[in-house]
Order: sequence, then structure tokens, then C-alpha cells
Amino acid sequence: MDHTIGVLALQGDVREHLAVLRRLGEDAIAVRRPRELAAVDGLIIPGGESTTMIKLARIFELFEPLKARVRAGLPTFGTCAGMILLADRIEDGAAGQETLGGLDITVRRNAFGRQVDSFEGDLTVQGLDGPVHAIFIRAPWVEAVGEGVEVLARVPAGPAAGRIVAVRQGSLMATSFHPEVGGDARVHELFVDLVRRARAELRTDEETKRD
Ligand code: GLN
Repeated sequence: MDHTIGVLALQGDVREHLAVLRRLGEDAIAVRRPRELAAVDGLIIPGGESTTMIKLARIFELFEPLKARVRAGLPTFGTCAGMILLADRIEDGAAGQETLGGLDITVRRNAFGRQVDSFEGDLTVQGLDGPVHAIFIRAPWVEAVGEGVEVLARVPAGPAAGRIVAVRQGSLMATSFHPEVGGDARVHELFVDLVRRARAELRTDEETKRD
């Protein structure tokens, strides 16, 4: 294996993501410190509570290093709260809520409303054959996307029909739902592909420099 994937382990669904990655045969580690972050070739930011995660990132001195690595092109996959952390803009955030940014999207926090704190549904995800059973827990949706952002999935029906719930932009990816719950590893596989492609590009760059 020529790459390692980290799961940001400050709070939230850390174990579940590590388990899916390991089931896919990936070398996966929990990231809690700057030196662990420096050792990974891809990173998952899990679901949990975005304001708590940002606070803990500051306490663990990970906020700036995370921001820097995401900007430098580290393949990163944010799920639910992780999507909020990667968004350049938030609607209905806590007062003064910061994000790492990087994804040119506006997310609406807790968008699905209080009555539907959590719900499940089948989604079509670009690049995957057959529907993905998506689980949403106090989830954000993507209110608006910039030009370079590819929409991977929308809510198919119901009051939130048409809302964007999965996106990709270069080496960044985000879902409003929790792909680590429910036993379907295909969304993680999409991310592993991003990590592999980024590694291959790095290698080509290094070889070109050597020639
Ligand atoms: N509502 C949470 C937040 O704002 C996200 C919920 C989740 O990650 N399941 O951070």
C-alpha cells in the first residue's frame, strides 16, 4: 500500500469510518495530532458536531495545519459535520462559526428542520451503479455551489426534493449523509479513488522533476 488515509479523531463517527476503510483493505489511522496529519495522504472528517470539532481542532493545534493541508490539495472527504467544516460559507451556523473551508459551497446547517432530525432514503450518486441508502442525522444540505463544484447527489423526493447532498471539487468531496453507517462501502471507494489519483499525480510530478 503506498498511501495512508486518516480519520480526524477529535469527536464523532471516527471508529465507523476507520472500520469501513480497513474493510476496503486501506491503511487507516486516527488523526489527533499535527504529526499524524503530516503522515496521511487523504483525510476523512467525520460527522459529529461541527462547532465542537472546530473548538477541539484549535485546542489540539490542528486548525491551521488542517486548513493548510486542505488548501495544498490533500484529498479530503467531509461527511455531515465534516461537510460543514469544508464549506467556504455557512448559513444558520452558530454565531461566528468558523470553518476550514476549501469547498466552494454554501451549506445550511441543520437544514432538514427539527421535525426530521434524522431520516433515511435511497439516492442516486454520480459514479455509482445502483442507489445508495443514505442516513441523514441533523444534516446540512448544500444551498449553493460554485462553478468548479460537481454535484454528486440530490434528495430525490419529499419536502427537500432537489436539495444537493453530495459534492466533489478537485480532491475534495463531501456528503450530508453518513456513508459510514449501513454497510455500503461504495462512497468510501469513490474517495479512495480520489486519494489514489492524487498519489499517482504526485508521482508523475516527481518523475518529471527528476528527468
Ligand atoms: N448538526 C451537526 C452540526 O452542525 C451535524 C450533524 C452530524 O454530523 N450528524 O455539526
